[in-house]
Amino acid sequence: MKTAVFRDFHAPLAIEDRPQPRPADDEVVIEVCRCGICGSDLHMTREPAFGTRPGAVLGHEFAGRVIELGHAVRGLKVGDRVAVAPVRGCGRCPSCLAGEPAWCRHMILQGGGYAELAVTKDRQCLPLPRTTAIEDRALVEPLAVALHGVRLASLSPGARVLVMGAGPIGLGVTFWARRLGAIAVAVTDLTLAQADRAVEMGATAFLQAGEDAVQSVAHALGGSPDVIFECVGRPGILSRAIEHVRPRGLIVMLGLCTSPDSFVPFQAVSKEVRILTSAFFSMDDYRAALEALDGGHCAAKAMVTGTVRLSQMPEAFEALRQRTSQCKVMVRPD
Ligand SMILES: [Zn+2]
Ligand SMILES: [Zn+2]
Repeated sequence: MKTAVFRDFHAPLAIEDRPQPRPADDEVVIEVCRCGICGSDLHMTREPAFGTRPGAVLGHEFAGRVIELGHAVRGLKVGDRVAVAPVRGCGRCPSCLAGEPAWCRHMILQGGGYAELAVTKDRQCLPLPRTTAIEDRALVEPLAVALHGVRLASLSPGARVLVMGAGPIGLGVTFWARRLGAIAVAVTDLTLAQADRAVEMGATAFLQAGEDAVQSVAHALGGSPDVIFECVGRPGILSRAIEHVRPRGLIVMLGLCTSPDSFVPFQAVSKEVRILTSAFFSMDDYRAALEALDGGHCAAKAMVTGTVRLSQMPEAFEALRQRTSQCKVMVRPD
């Protein structure tokens, strides 16, 4: 089977032929139908801090068809269309049993989606409703990550929200924030190309970075933001968020910034700003994201800006290192 393999930091992924995987007793083999290219994979192939090993196959946002079952698998059958929740725990500890595998001591973020076939545990597979469009299937994971952040914020009805960054997570946050009570959601991004997409996902205003002065944001929202979602992950963004947020407001950090960042504590303390961080998702979040996609309740397709064949994906992957007008790029089999 064809795979896109990580060889080394700063080297592009390489297409390799590998033997067809066999499932262990509690595993299934999935024929990958779509796998989303995720910003965290771009980090994982550049920054040794993530511990990616040569030979690894990344790709954790995938959905497909079950083609083989391990002996102990119950509740799934060959031909089932499933989305794979990539956060894998041991399956037995209190966190796993509570549907929170992200906090299992043995948690891993499983990859394998940049390939024709992938192996996963049966408990990570969620059957997809027939109505979920093929393009949407691999969007469950980023939508679940976004929902997790919005749930942590416990928005009050009528909340004014600022979303910094209109990548897939920022757009997902926009969708959920509107659904969960926000009356106004302003989105900021470096590129104006994301404006229509943001509006389709529920934004009430879009501001290009540079035009997002504190007064402009407050004007767009009808008041200073009660809650800010930081979905960029670059040094300096947190400090901007502290300037924007209303006194006693909340900042939720979802961006993956791997370099040190600084802010002036007094600016945060003098406004009694609360800062929360959000990582991964629960199985509940994942299920809710799946349901939102079902029947087209979410304009998630607006996020998909391109689809590339597996054999062309290494090139597309490198191109995404520059911030372009792309949002979510999907990989499909050749
Ligand atoms: Zn992802
Ligand atoms: Zn566990």
